Amino acid sequence: IFISLEGPDGSGKSTAAKKIVPQLQQLSTQEVVLTREPGGSAIAEQLRDIILDVHNSAMDARTEALLYAAQRRQHIVDVILPALQANKIVLSDRYIDSSVAYQGAGRQLGMQEICQLNLFATQKLLPQLTLYFDIPPAVGLKRIQQKRAQAADRLEKEQLDFHQRVTAAYQQLIKQDADRIVKIDALQTPDQVVADCLAIISQRFNL
Ligand code: C5P
Repeated sequence: IFISLEGPDGSGKSTAAKKIVPQLQQLSTQEVVLTREPGGSAIAEQLRDIILDVHNSAMDARTEALLYAAQRRQHIVDVILPALQANKIVLSDRYIDSSVAYQGAGRQLGMQEICQLNLFATQKLLPQLTLYFDIPPAVGLKRIQQKRAQAADRLEKEQLDFHQRVTAAYQQLIKQDADRIVKIDALQTPDQVVADCLAIISQRFNL
């Protein structure tokens, strides 16, 4: 079982993911593996450091898109595929839709182009289920700004219009792929968000 979590910055995916894992583990005899992008494996984490380094403000948008695709490829080979082959449940904090939304729409490289690039990188390995943490971009941005006085990564310097393009792209992806991508109301309390995620996962996979 391969599940991804998607959503704008500050939507609470990572916090929810950490809480979902132990509860999901109780529902299933299959081992649950939590991983994340960018990163997730030794080489992919090295690529993450390059991608997110605040000093790399001169990075070209296409370079960034290629590096995201590259880290994803390595993450699949090192972590996702071996886990799926061992019949584990893989929960990935971000995956292909992040690239289509952030590089395709945020950076305006084209959603279709970034999708094509990533179909090459992933050899069309898609999650069976994607949970989209739905939150207005301004609310997500505010949450992040409250948490950190200084930008922790290069992408945190992006302004509201960037995040609005990202969110609009996600909404488009949900429309296109309504079977795979399910919306979660990320404005709810953290516990309610986790409960919703677990309910959808257990229903989808009969856990
Ligand atoms: O999800 P997480 O906060 O770890 O993501 C790290 C940063 O990378 C965020 O600022 C996110 O907006 C950015 N990102 C991106 N393009 C992706 C994936 C993440 O710009 N494809």
